[in-house]
Parts: sequence; C-alpha cells; structure tokens
Amino acid sequence: MLPANGEEGFVLDNGTCASVPPDYHVHTPLCKHAEGHVADYRAMAGRRGMREICFTDHMPDPSGYDPQHRMEPGQYAEYLQLVRPLQRDGSPSVLLGIEADFYDGCEGYVRSWLRNQPFDLVLGAVHYIGGWGFDNPSQMAAWERADVRGVWKEYFSLLGRMADTRLYDVVAHLDLPKKFGHRLDDDHMREWVQPVLDRIAAADMAIEINTSGLRRAVGEAYPSALILQLACERGVPICFGSDSHRPEEVGWAFDAAVQTALDAGYREHVLFRNRKRTARPLVHR
Ligand code: ZN
Ligand code: FE
Ligand code: FE
Ligand code: ZN
Repeated sequence: MLPANGEEGFVLDNGTCASVPPDYHVHTPLCKHAEGHVADYRAMAGRRGMREICFTDHMPDPSGYDPQHRMEPGQYAEYLQLVRPLQRDGSPSVLLGIEADFYDGCEGYVRSWLRNQPFDLVLGAVHYIGGWGFDNPSQMAAWERADVRGVWKEYFSLLGRMADTRLYDVVAHLDLPKKFGHRLDDDHMREWVQPVLDRIAAADMAIEINTSGLRRAVGEAYPSALILQLACERGVPICFGSDSHRPEEVGWAFDAAVQTALDAGYREHVLFRNRKRTARPLVHR
C-alpha cells in the first residue's frame, strides 16, 4: 500500500506509516525442501514494497550434518550462480546471506568456511539438540517422550554458546522449540532467556522477528512478545524474516511483525551489507 508521502509502507493502527522492512530470511530450492525460482521470490518482495531481500539458504556442511535439509557441498557454486545474476540488475536489491547452523563441534568448520565467503548477512540457527532435529516434523514424535522444560534448557545453552562464538550476525527464530506448541512458562522463560540475551548483546548480534511461526501450530512469530521486550531493554537490534520456502511467503505478515516490534518498544530495525549493520526507523512519519 502507498501511504500519503509516496513511500511504500504499512499504515499502523494509530494511523502512522511504517516502512516495509526487507526480508532477511529466504530459502531456495537448493535446500531440498523449498520451491520456486529465486526471481519469483524477489518479485514478491517487490510486490510487497520492499527495497531489498536477502537469500539465506541453509549452509552446506561437508561433515554430513543434516544433509536432507541443505545443499550438497558441491552445490555451493550453484547457490552463487542463482543469486549473483539477480544482484547485477533489477529491483528490489538482492543480498547474499546464509543460514548457518550451530551444533556441538561445528565451530572449526563454520569459522574457517565463513572467513572466505562474500556474505552480507549470516543467520545463526540451532535446529538440533544432540541428534534430534527438534523442529523437524518427521522427528516430532520425540516430543511426546521429551521433558519440555529440559529441552528448552538445553536449547538455550546451545544458543548462548552460539552467541559466544561471535561467528554469526543474527539469531534466527530465537524461541524455535515452541514451533509445535511446546511452550515454556513465562517464569522459566525469563530466568533462562535473559542471560542468553545478555550474551547475544555482548556478541553484538541482532535477532530477527521470524514470521514463519505464524504459519505453524504455535501461531505466533519467533520470538514471543516477552522475549522481544527483554531484547529491546538490552538494546539488541532487530531485523525481519519470513523464513520463506516458497515465493508467496516472502514478507509474510510483516505488517503484524512491525506492529509487534513497536509494541515491544523498538523504534528502529537494522539493514546489513557485507556483514555491517545500519539502523533505520521503523516508522517514517
Ligand atoms: Zn529450511
Ligand atoms: Fe531455521
Ligand atoms: Fe530458514
Ligand atoms: Zn530457518
């Protein structure tokens, strides 16, 4: 939609206009569970009024970690060949990023691999606790036997260690274990998430508001309003991601996400280029 000043954006509940933030979490079919051409993802970003979009497909991993959800190491060149031509012309602008996992023992590889890559943005994500892909629908049955609180505790311990590596720019889907509805009570959440947010702040990382949670059983974006508020209090910057695995999902519910950010106390979101951040106001008039 076009607000009065001609810049594309959302008209908020109180009548002010918010800019459409870029979508910084977008996959490609190379990850084996997404569909659609990269040009169609970009076109959807344009239709939604975005100025830029960043592809962040799941990183290749020669160690054999979670091979069914990522490009083969030999396909990395193909990833560059998909994204590079879109960067040469057309709009919105296209950034090159990656969703890099953190898991026990990954650090040596991730550090040396990232060093030589031309990324604008590196998302850091925890998808596994030990050998369990806790957000994988095909491994969902394990939740029935799981101690939910224990899962959250282990998850946050991994997330804190991820921040401590200083290898990643943005924490992806910060409270991912809630995906299928296994929430943590607010008291334990406060107790366990705050030290992790402190480590994220100390690592000078941002977090994303990831709207894919709205498409899942949990029915809310990652992270929750409570976590966002605690992150905002610590000055942890935010960006936005749809976690699109199909072109139609680009910019999914970003109007609601911007409102959520404002409600949590945020006034700015961040943009990335060459892994450097700049801030931009959420509301432009
Ligand atoms: Zn994926
Ligand atoms: Fe992820
Ligand atoms: Fe993703
Ligand atoms: Zn993701």
